[in-house]
Amino acid sequence: MPPSSALIAVQDIPGAGRGVLAQQNIPANTHVLDSPRPAAHVIFRQYRKEVCAQCFGYDRGRNLPVKDNTTGKVFCSEACRENWIRDEDELGAGAWLALENFVKSKSKAVVSTLSQCSVGDKPGERAVLSRWEEAEKIASIHRQVRSVDASDPRPGIRADKGHRRTMQNVCSQPVDPDILAYLLSGMLSHRQAPERWDAEVATLAMDPEPYKDNADLEAHCNAFLQLASIVPRDLLESCTGQICQTISNASSHNSFGIRAGGEDGEEYMGYSLYPEASYFNHSCLPNISKVRVGRTWQFRTAREVVEGEQLCITYLGGDEKDLTVEERRQRLKGVWGFECMCERCRNEN
Ligand SMILES: [Zn+2]
Ligand SMILES: [Zn+2]
Repeated sequence: MPPSSALIAVQDIPGAGRGVLAQQNIPANTHVLDSPRPAAHVIFRQYRKEVCAQCFGYDRGRNLPVKDNTTGKVFCSEACRENWIRDEDELGAGAWLALENFVKSKSKAVVSTLSQCSVGDKPGERAVLSRWEEAEKIASIHRQVRSVDASDPRPGIRADKGHRRTMQNVCSQPVDPDILAYLLSGMLSHRQAPERWDAEVATLAMDPEPYKDNADLEAHCNAFLQLASIVPRDLLESCTGQICQTISNASSHNSFGIRAGGEDGEEYMGYSLYPEASYFNHSCLPNISKVRVGRTWQFRTAREVVEGEQLCITYLGGDEKDLTVEERRQRLKGVWGFECMCERCRNEN
């Protein structure tokens, strides 16, 4: 459900999709919204020893003191480790362990495509759909094969040679731990609260062409099939092509960087999808400031706002705010897909 309170409401804005409007005059520095949990997130593997898996805490590049030896996750404190175990429950811990073992077993074939520049054109909507359809066909057979209990004497679906070869081939492809972790975190959050997923994630603004090039699309479909072969059986129902596509398509316009030192931090350590936060439109002169406290994004008024005024955050991070109007517009167009017509851009143009 879109966020709503005595202070704010989500409404259609003529010519600008939906946005968040002030329901009354609100003084400066008023806390208007919390977005407590990401629906999907990833800490890039290169930061895996430095960023707390629970609160995203970072200590200037030092390795964090508390380590979970099986899943490879690190924590800033014992309390964070306990909270992580409580939130993820047994299924989540089992899934992260399976992922860690899989990635370790592939040590020579680990790639990270997220930081690579694009090679060639973005695949179009038709190409994206047909590649996912193909992957889902293979995955649906694999889910059936895996859901047959080996000790069940009744005849179940057995994998034929062709399917076994296909899956072997998929699993021998290079692995991208960052894509695997991002998709897995989304599957786990779907599994924990399917109704929240349907109401808050599946309804976000979607980008039908979210991949920067064909290799990126290929890496996502491969990661999906690799997960179909390694996640615990109880997670298989959430390991579908549709859920992975929702994660990818929603992330393109709705995800936030996880940066050290909050919003303006230089260190870009991962990213995350916060459904409630995504209702705010962008302005280069925002009247809402956001600050991350642990996993939670808190939104406050940056100045006094009047009833009916649209509440906006900035999608620009780090030092991007200091860019010229042309540079800002180019960045926003490239990453978020819109022409910025905010007050500041109109004034500086
Ligand atoms: Zn922590
Ligand atoms: Zn602007």
